[in-house]
Amino acid sequence: MSRNTRAVISVAALRHNLAVAREAAGGARVMAVIKANGYGHGLLRVAHALRHADAFAVTSLEEAIPLREAGFAHPILLLEGPFEPNEIQLVSRYRLDMAVHSDWQISVLQGARLTRPVNVWLKVDSGMHRLGLPLDAVRDAHERLSGLSGVSPHLRMMTHLAEADDPHSGATPRQCRAFADTVAGLRGERSLANSAGLLGWPDTRADWVRPGIMLYGASPFGAGSSLHAPLRPAMTLTTRINAIYQHRAGDAIGYGGTWTCPEDMPVAVAAIGYGDGYPRHAPSGTPVLVNGERVQLIGRVSMDMICLDLRGLSEPAEVGDTVTLWGDGLPAEEVAEHAGTIAYELFCTVTQRVHFQEERDPHGADED
Ligand SMILES: *Cc1c(COP(=O)(O)O)cnc(C)c1O
Repeated sequence: MSRNTRAVISVAALRHNLAVAREAAGGARVMAVIKANGYGHGLLRVAHALRHADAFAVTSLEEAIPLREAGFAHPILLLEGPFEPNEIQLVSRYRLDMAVHSDWQISVLQGARLTRPVNVWLKVDSGMHRLGLPLDAVRDAHERLSGLSGVSPHLRMMTHLAEADDPHSGATPRQCRAFADTVAGLRGERSLANSAGLLGWPDTRADWVRPGIMLYGASPFGAGSSLHAPLRPAMTLTTRINAIYQHRAGDAIGYGGTWTCPEDMPVAVAAIGYGDGYPRHAPSGTPVLVNGERVQLIGRVSMDMICLDLRGLSEPAEVGDTVTLWGDGLPAEEVAEHAGTIAYELFCTVTQRVHFQEERDPHGADED
C-alpha cells in the first residue's frame, strides 16, 4: 500500500442506492445486477451490502457459485444462462435461475435429467438484436419449456432495452410494445428495466426491475443529464501526490510532450496510471480533485503516474496530499465523458493493484 492508491467502497452508498431503486420500482421486485465482480466493486462485498435486494443477477457460474457458497439464499439469475451444455447440472445443484436465449439451451433442458427443476427466464429479443429469442420463436419456446420436468412451472419472461438511456429515443416504446405483444396471454412474470428503464421509463417496471449501474451511484444517463436520481457514488478512487515541481514556461509534460506549460507553474505527479485502471485516453483537461478542489490532468497518462496542473488551488498542495480520481465530489460519469467511455467501464477496469477497502457507516447503520 505504499503508493496509497485506493478504491474506497461505501457500504452506506450501496445501501442508499438500493433504497433509491426500490423507491423508483414502485411495487416491482428488485434484482440487483452484480455481474463483473459487482461492476468492479467486489462481488461478495457488494452482495453483502445489497442483501436486501430480492434477487441477484450475474453472468456466469464463476460468479454465481461463490455467492451460494457464501450463504446467499436469494434467487441468482444467470443473465446469459449456461455457456456450455454440461453446466446445466450445476445450475440445478446450486439452485440458480437461468436465462434461455437460444434453441440449444432449450435442447439441453429437454435432454437433461435434473433432480431439481430450474427457474427459467425466457430472454426475448424485442429489438436490441444482441442476445435473445427472436419474437416469432418465443411462444413455441414457452410451450416447449412449460411441459418439462426439469423446468419449474414459474416460467418468467425478460427482455433488455437498447436505448433506455436516451430519453428521446423511440426505441424503448417500440421494444415495450413488441415484448408485450409477444408475451400477451402467457403466464409468468415479466422484466424489462435496467437502471435507465427504471429511472427514465416508468412503464418498463413490470414485475421485476434489474438495476445495475445506479446501485454503484452512477447515472445511466451520463454526466450532463437532467434526469438525476439522488444517487451516491459507491467507489471513490484516490491516491497521493508523490512529487511537486515548479516547471518553466515552454516545458513539455510527459510522454510525447503533448502538453506545454504556458507559464512558470507548479505541476504535481500523482501515483496512479493505466496500470491501476485509470483510463489512458483521459486527455489533458480531465478533472481531478486535489484536497477536494478541482484541478486538471495534463499530458499523457502513464502506467503508474499522472501529472496535474496545480495552478488555481486556493491553498498550495504538498507531497502526500490526497488526489481523487472519481467518486465523492467528482462523478465518474464526468471523468468517463472526458475519456470517451462510460462509468461502467471505469469501474470494471480498476486493477488488482489498487487496494480496495470498505468504508463502514460510522453510525453503524450498515447493520440491520
Ligand atoms: C447488465 C444488465 C443489466 C443492468 O444494466 P444497468 O445499465 O447497469 O442498470 C440489466 N439487465 C441485463 C440483462 C444486463 O445484462
